[in-house]
Amino acid sequence: MRQQCVTVLGATGSIGKSTLDVVARHPERYRVHALTAHRSREALLAQCLRHRPRMAVLGTEHDAAWLRARLTEAGLAVEVRAGDEALVEAAGAVEVDVVMAAIVGAAGLLPTLAAVRGGKRVLLANKEALVMSGALFMEAVEHHGATLLPIDSEHNAIYQCLPSEHRGGLARHGVTQLLLTASGGPFRGWSAARLASVTPEQACAHPNWSMGRKISVDSATLMNKGLELIEACWLFDARPEQIQVVVHPQSVIHSMAAYSDGSVLAQLGNPDMRTPIAYGLAWPERIDAGVEALDLFQIARLDFEAPDERAFPCLRLARDAMAAGGTAPAVLNAANEVAVDAFLSGRLPFVGIGELVEATLNALPVEAGRDLDTILAMDAHARTLARQWLQQR
Ligand code: NAD
Ligand code: MG
Repeated sequence: MRQQCVTVLGATGSIGKSTLDVVARHPERYRVHALTAHRSREALLAQCLRHRPRMAVLGTEHDAAWLRARLTEAGLAVEVRAGDEALVEAAGAVEVDVVMAAIVGAAGLLPTLAAVRGGKRVLLANKEALVMSGALFMEAVEHHGATLLPIDSEHNAIYQCLPSEHRGGLARHGVTQLLLTASGGPFRGWSAARLASVTPEQACAHPNWSMGRKISVDSATLMNKGLELIEACWLFDARPEQIQVVVHPQSVIHSMAAYSDGSVLAQLGNPDMRTPIAYGLAWPERIDAGVEALDLFQIARLDFEAPDERAFPCLRLARDAMAAGGTAPAVLNAANEVAVDAFLSGRLPFVGIGELVEATLNALPVEAGRDLDTILAMDAHARTLARQWLQQR
């Protein structure tokens, strides 16, 4: 078997670390080409010493110089670079076969697109990139012959439950509905009044998954499920009304596909991101992910309920943005990134996140936005408006 050459964008994050864990279990299959991080230079140093990539990328030249010196001392020949262009090269280099797109937020868009344009196998964790650029992203996948494999556990589950060739609309394959499961986050069942005073620490304490802070807050507001609804529309050529969000607190069923004959196919597993990561790395084969076998007797029961869209308006805002189309999802995403950042730094209450996103969506017209310049301009515009809103409140 030829060794596959892997780049991990966002290597020091939650998904990045899980990816390297799986990769390291299969040295005969994978070797690491590039590892990237934003500010976590110590963590990236440790990963470079362990995984010996050809290239490492950090956010600033200052941090890159620091890492270069440490790696030289250790006797390792790693090309250390800084900045956006280096990220794009790490993703698009000719020798790279597989790119894990695990940068958080809009910062991942250009490097993820570079992987797509390089015709790579793209393991997509960075859902924000697809939410921002949906049509453009999917056209680029088609045009450059990239293989796009969803890593978000829900989408990975749906991918596993659909026929292997599912392009061309769900109805063609007898699929009537996609059932997108949601844990409900740490505040499931809470009233709007009780949500008014929640802290970042409470919001980041997810009951089932251990994740980065941004996606943890998104899970608490249900914006994560909104972003995932948009993600599913693009990945599976679905309309928003073909997707039902099902709150399932145990996070054992990762999502389902319902068929016209009454069959519902589900994918189950322990809540451990190494399962979808290993699936994406090895597809269509299966490899060991280091994940414990599912013990149904210990789980004992599976519960389901409808989401509370009154206390958690972000899900509705995302569905409406997808229905509005064009640049609306990019605006939703940008405003949400500003709002989450403000919440995490104590400048915005939890319930203000939805308010800020809604105000920004209402303030901006929807443009067709199939080209990158329009999308990036809308993203920047939405951020400016969102910051003004924060200052004025
Ligand atoms: P994280 O915050 O733990 O890690 C983010 C990574 O991106 C880090 O390596 C960081 O250095 C890098 N990064 C941050 N800002 C950057 C910037 N401006 N430029 C370049 N690099 C930057 O996040 P995470 O939880 O691993 O999530 C990563 C992505 O995967 C997100 O889009 C998230 O929605 C998605 N995702 C995560 C999970 C999960 O379980 N953590 C599940 C599904 C999807
Ligand atoms: Mg998910």
